[in-house]
Amino acid sequence: MEKLEILTASAKYDVACTSSGSDRKGQAGALGNTSAMGICHSFAADGRCISLLKVLMTNGCVYDCAYCINRKSNPIRRAAFTPEEIADITMQFYRRNYIEGLFLSSGIMRSPDYTTEQLISALELLRNVYHFNGYIHVKAIPGADEALLSRLGLLADRMSVNIELPSQESLGRLAPDKSKVSILKPMGLITNRIKENRSDIVRYNHAPRFAPAGQSTQMIVGATPDTDYQILNLTEGLYRKYALKRVFFSAYTPVVEDSLLPALDTKPPLLREHRLYQADWLLRFYGFKANELLDEAVPNFNPLLDPKCSWAVNHREQFPVEINRAPYEMLLRVPGIGVRSAQRIVKARRAGSLDFHALKKLGVVLKRAQFFITCKDKPLEGLKVSEHTLLRSLMSGQELAPNQPPQVEQLTLFDDFNLSALPAAGGWDLLKKGAKA
Ligand code: SF4
Repeated sequence: MEKLEILTASAKYDVACTSSGSDRKGQAGALGNTSAMGICHSFAADGRCISLLKVLMTNGCVYDCAYCINRKSNPIRRAAFTPEEIADITMQFYRRNYIEGLFLSSGIMRSPDYTTEQLISALELLRNVYHFNGYIHVKAIPGADEALLSRLGLLADRMSVNIELPSQESLGRLAPDKSKVSILKPMGLITNRIKENRSDIVRYNHAPRFAPAGQSTQMIVGATPDTDYQILNLTEGLYRKYALKRVFFSAYTPVVEDSLLPALDTKPPLLREHRLYQADWLLRFYGFKANELLDEAVPNFNPLLDPKCSWAVNHREQFPVEINRAPYEMLLRVPGIGVRSAQRIVKARRAGSLDFHALKKLGVVLKRAQFFITCKDKPLEGLKVSEHTLLRSLMSGQELAPNQPPQVEQLTLFDDFNLSALPAAGGWDLLKKGAKA
């Protein structure tokens, strides 16, 4: 239990799943109990939420990445599980119904190859001895031999190689034992093996599956001066080149004192992380490109507006969009119209012209969309657009007084997001200046 405590606590900085925090003992007359320790939730490809035991094989590491709590030079309590212990704990937790799967990562023991061999041993025990058929997400260790990574992928459902920092320069400064090449190489290998495996499966129905749930990665946000533009460009490239299922962003939480890193009392940039997730959504489902959302001149997202609203405000020449004629791709770019409502609009307008009332029924958020659309070539009746109305509506109705730049504070989960408490802002200028304002 002590080891489990140490190794689940050390694993919590990986954001591919979130901690449940629920701890409840069994009661007489009631069925079931829960354990908070390392139990996290993740979403399967079909949208199901599954609980996972999220644990490290060891929090000892021969590397010294400055941002990491497990780095070699950090004086913390160390522990390591054997492959047998990992397999045993997973099965015990599974039988008690605490978990439906395993998320297994590790610090580097001795070498990337040795660590990968340990991970393989644990997964082989689970799959071949215990016949565990549940979900397993395993971290691929950069620098490990290709043959070992190939064996690992045949035992896991999902693999991930953490890219950690968005530029070689930042990696060189904060993670001197790693390089962009050493991280991208296993990513490329996994992508190729997944592709080959797809054609194997077509030819041989019983061919073993290689990481059938694909691969993902994680990037730390806020530990280095890298901009949102750099992060988003890299994200787009990773989706295109490596067909990743997800890129996760992790707001940097200072855990160690280091002159190269933000001070220990710096709050994690959660709002920035949130904006990046919104932008990631736009890349994956809305047909946006990174360089449409940001550029060298405005390299960071406006914290006051979501990226889609920001884009629309900066591209007023493309609006208003006539709902009854606009192509699907343009409907997707209207704030307040999501993928589902755009699909419903395209379907519904085959049967007749749509008006604002019909749009509301189709799930369009008119509060935002009204400023950017017409129905039957007419804007919403009585709509008066001024900078102030537009701003207030796009910012969830919160007031932003004119003429002074806002002092934006990074929020944590427990802060109240009260924009009316912000000092006055400069309307359109503020929006156009983006995060610089
Ligand atoms: S290799 Fe991984 S566990 Fe080791 S210090 Fe770097 S980030 Fe931490």
